[in-house]
Amino acid sequence: MELANMKGVGPKSIALLNKLNIYDIEDLLEFYPYRYNIYKPVDLETSEDNTNVTINALIESTPRLSYIKKNFNRLSFKALTNNLLINVTIFNRSFLYKHLSVGKNIMLVGKYNKQKNAFVASELKLGILTEPKIEPIYHIIKGLKNSQISTYIKQALTENKNLTDYIPEEIVGKYNFLSKEEAIKIIHDPKTINQIKQAKIRLIYEEFFIFMLKINYLKNKNKQIEGTKKIFSKEKIKDFINNLPFPLTKDQNIAVEECLRDLKSSKKMNRLLQGDVGSGKTIVAIITMYANSLSGYQSALMAPTEILARQHYETIKSTLDPYQIRVGLLVGSQKKSEHQKLVEQLVNGEIDVLIGTHALISEDVTFKNLGLVITDEQHRFGVNQRGNLQNKGLSPDTIYMSATPIPRTYALTIYQDMDTSVIKTKPNGRKEIKTFVKKESELKDVLLNILEEIKKGHQVYVVAPSILENEERNVRDVNNLKSSFDTAFQNKVSIEVLHGKLATKEKEKIMNRFQTGETKILIATTVIEVGVDVKNATTIVIFNAEMFGLATIHQLRGRVGRNDLDSYCYLISDYDIERLKVLEKSNDGFYISEQDFLMRREGDLFGTKQSGDMVFKIADLKKDFKILLQTKEDTKHYLEQNKELEEKYKKILQSITNVD
Ligand code: ADP
Ligand code: MG
Repeated sequence: MELANMKGVGPKSIALLNKLNIYDIEDLLEFYPYRYNIYKPVDLETSEDNTNVTINALIESTPRLSYIKKNFNRLSFKALTNNLLINVTIFNRSFLYKHLSVGKNIMLVGKYNKQKNAFVASELKLGILTEPKIEPIYHIIKGLKNSQISTYIKQALTENKNLTDYIPEEIVGKYNFLSKEEAIKIIHDPKTINQIKQAKIRLIYEEFFIFMLKINYLKNKNKQIEGTKKIFSKEKIKDFINNLPFPLTKDQNIAVEECLRDLKSSKKMNRLLQGDVGSGKTIVAIITMYANSLSGYQSALMAPTEILARQHYETIKSTLDPYQIRVGLLVGSQKKSEHQKLVEQLVNGEIDVLIGTHALISEDVTFKNLGLVITDEQHRFGVNQRGNLQNKGLSPDTIYMSATPIPRTYALTIYQDMDTSVIKTKPNGRKEIKTFVKKESELKDVLLNILEEIKKGHQVYVVAPSILENEERNVRDVNNLKSSFDTAFQNKVSIEVLHGKLATKEKEKIMNRFQTGETKILIATTVIEVGVDVKNATTIVIFNAEMFGLATIHQLRGRVGRNDLDSYCYLISDYDIERLKVLEKSNDGFYISEQDFLMRREGDLFGTKQSGDMVFKIADLKKDFKILLQTKEDTKHYLEQNKELEEKYKKILQSITNVD
């Protein structure tokens, strides 16, 4: 069934559902609640004071409705609950007034103050609750209420859906898993908490199973691929390195050696280059591309965003130009004619090194002899793209650069199809970024410090989370920050806003003005997270810092401290202070990601929520790590036992590489 055929779903709701990445009934069914409200009636005499509770009650006095202000009203009445007569108040529910009268049974959620004998309700429902009730809560967006999503999903549940179950039968038997259909029903309409647990574990397992199946499959596949032995002059590489404006660090030298060794070998290179922000991965990539050019092959470097692609292009072009290596840029926003010309030059071999976004692997781009592909910020590409790169007719050597230092245990699982080089040391002269956790109420001090920096001629990043609008929590957004900052600085400081929804051209212009120093403060969402390099920026302020993983914040603050100036990072938050303090204490990405891991918080081990297919619908790489390890073993075993794969698995694997 199409979404459009559902009751109560018009074009407007469809547009909203699409925003949540829901395009059909299956998507809707796999749009899982992120938590549940649990209503379980209690006895006020034995329950804790001033905590949120649910009670059944009987109205004992005629409700009174009073208006305090225009949009602010109060309903109050007496009610009996378990022989206790209490005073009930609920705000802004004038619409309930006509439904309430003496003798009616109601259910209330709220807080009770024993001393005042007052119950302030946040929710009131007619009728009594005889059994505990569990209500799923979904991530929502403006215009789409939780109750609407619930209704849509309830409808979808009654449909005959064609959900594929990806857990092999023998494994379902082994763990006694619920069927997919049962699990989906329960997750949206549970009767008990225990049921939720059972359903969740099964759905999590399935997501990880698919994920690890891909990785194990790629791993096997990679072993079979023959690479090309690249031949280049060692002397020329040495000269190239000696002519760089700086000496390589010890770890950079090792990484270069490892990459070049792979280039020379007949085995296809499949290497993860891990290194903290600012550790200098790019130059390792450039040297490897230089060697690849010397051996007569083309190289390609893919960046996750156009801004980054352009930045890489500038750096790489200026480094390689003196060596007569022709560097090209290919991004989505280019003119058709420009694009066309580039595509021709590539086929003819008139370009040696191509820099671009993922437009680079689009269908119409064919290389003459692609020998090396490098992707920057690996976590933005994910497992699905790992295979695609190998599909360009040739099987180029591949390097994945990642600025997310992930714990070894993870690397061994989710990157087990690759070899790894790690850059741990940072280039000399790099200073620690002084980091401070501040409350919203301390903002004034932070603003004063910002002003100091600007007076010194430095620049400032301000970051706000960009999330699905959340009704439960007040979160700063870029536009509201812009007006607060304008007011605070009396419009005397040039401030601009950058976020993902702006047109590419617009983004570029804004980035350019920041790069040239025309703009002093750049207020942005996490689009600035990866790689952006403005050396004059010395301060970064992150609002609602509690909403980010430590690893993400660490990456974000890597935007500053890019030269020998003192640099500062302010984390503004009223919550989760202890966790954030890890960042005050340490500037070591590996340590931080270990801590992030140990705390096992839900969320973003690998940076932002939008990070490609490292994002799961229900599974959490951190919280559900044990299940991940189990699927690692199970998928390996499964692939060994099933040489001929079932059609449904072939389909999944087809999307990452050609299955024979
Ligand atoms: P990342 O690993 O975050 O991608 P980059 O490759 O962008 O880091 O390097 C960060 C900055 O450090 C760049 O400006 C680069 O030129 C500089 N850099 C890299 N290696 C060295 C080095 N060995 N000595 C001094 N500066 C270096
Ligand atoms: Mg980089």
